Amino acid sequence: VYDVVVSGGGMVGSAMAAALGHDVHFREKKILLLEAGPRKATDCLPESYSNRVSSISLGSATLLSSFGAWDHVCSLRFKPFHRMQVWDACSEAMIIFDKNNLEDMGYIVENDVIMAALTKQLDAVSDRVEVLYRSRAVGYTWPFPCHTSDTSPWVKIDLADGRRLETKLLIGADGQNSMVRKAAGIQNIHYQYDQSAVVATLHLSEATDNNVAWQRFLPSGPIALLPLSDTASSLVWSTSHEHASQLLNMDEESFVDTINSAFWSNLHHSDFIDTAGSVFRSAISLLMPSGTAARQLPPSIARVDPKSRAVFPLGMGHATEYVRHRVALIGDAAHRVHPLAGQGVNMGFGDIACLTHHLSTAAFDGKDLGSIKHLLQFETERQRHNLSLMAAIDLLKRLYSTSVAPFVLLRTWGLQTTNALSPVKEQIMAFASK
Ligand SMILES: Cc1cc2nc3c(=O)[nH]c(=O)nc-3n(C[C@H](O)[C@H](O)[C@H](O)COP(=O)(O)OP(=O)(O)OC[C@H]3O[C@@H](n4cnc5c(N)ncnc54)[C@H](O)[C@@H]3O)c2cc1C
Repeated sequence: VYDVVVSGGGMVGSAMAAALGHDVHFREKKILLLEAGPRKATDCLPESYSNRVSSISLGSATLLSSFGAWDHVCSLRFKPFHRMQVWDACSEAMIIFDKNNLEDMGYIVENDVIMAALTKQLDAVSDRVEVLYRSRAVGYTWPFPCHTSDTSPWVKIDLADGRRLETKLLIGADGQNSMVRKAAGIQNIHYQYDQSAVVATLHLSEATDNNVAWQRFLPSGPIALLPLSDTASSLVWSTSHEHASQLLNMDEESFVDTINSAFWSNLHHSDFIDTAGSVFRSAISLLMPSGTAARQLPPSIARVDPKSRAVFPLGMGHATEYVRHRVALIGDAAHRVHPLAGQGVNMGFGDIACLTHHLSTAAFDGKDLGSIKHLLQFETERQRHNLSLMAAIDLLKRLYSTSVAPFVLLRTWGLQTTNALSPVKEQIMAFASK
């Protein structure tokens, strides 16, 4: 019988197991991580960058540091960014996020690097955390709330190889199609967006500091360029399924030309919106001269890494409950978002910080780890944060999916006003980095 079993060893499940393994109040506890796939350790990284990267917030980096994994990321490969520029393809409106003295705003890290760092950290706590790779859970049996002496009070887990385990607390970190969530009968509100994301590794025309994360909202969806090094960036282009498949199949030269024109072309501008926007911007700069930072130009792209192009369908999902007696859901098992705000795995890391805090207190107080009482505290705190963020992301996706003039004008004025209000931008940055 384990004290905690984490089912699913992606970025979120592995970080959860490593965080518990590092916690002083879990010294005497038995923790198990189950992962259907193989072990993902990397002693020496390939020279070429992976096409799957994540924008990691300062809050997530702090969490990874708290149990030693961030040092491993730093010794492998990562790129800090100091500024984020987001702008509209239908007008001149833009918003710039940065910090005083050009401090780090976040980090672009390959998912493989995060996994390698977490695997190293799990090795470091192998006396406290057992990890079973290539071990798929195929069934869960829940205890009756009022168990009798002849029934087990724990959650039973059946593995594909026939083994059966028991745990006092099951943490479901098994991704968007979570079997834990389904087996627990927790409802998932979800829908597919009319978009897919095209990712690729790109090489810049010339070396630059490359410390800005760029995102432009095109009527078909946002295109983002995330820095990887002085000469390379990662592309995340959310667009219609048809356009995504064209982008995937076009020759390399046309692909690069299409990306450059997506960042530079003013094809979607109209004189009316441009005039209304520039009058409004002039008025704002008179009222708040310090609040309008200078626009920068994105770098131009010279070539794409061969075979780095890939496509992912996009959707939104939210579990109506994150916890039940002896069960908690974290990461994409609990919530899935559009990548336009780069928040998916950051929300998962936020779940870990919160759940670890409550479990650590319960362990210190000698309480039952699977008790619904502290699990509900975790649920309340995280749903409050995650739901507001998900609603904001969904609203942005919808607001920017149209080129109808009144909506474009409204969002242009909204973006210009927000850009001029430094305290509001600071609040947004603080909330997104939690
Ligand atoms: C194009 C794109 C760009 C993105 N960019 C960002 C970004 O910049 N920043 C950001 O924060 N987020 C980003 N995200 C979101 C982020 O990638 C996800 O939120 C994150 O990968 C979810 O991690 P997870 O560990 O919860 O789930 P998963 O990565 O899905 O991991 C689940 C794991 O569970 C295992 N598993 C499943 N079922 C079982 C079972 N029955 N038994 C055992 N193991 C099982 C699987 O093998 C897998 O390893 C992006 C997403 C996309 C699609």
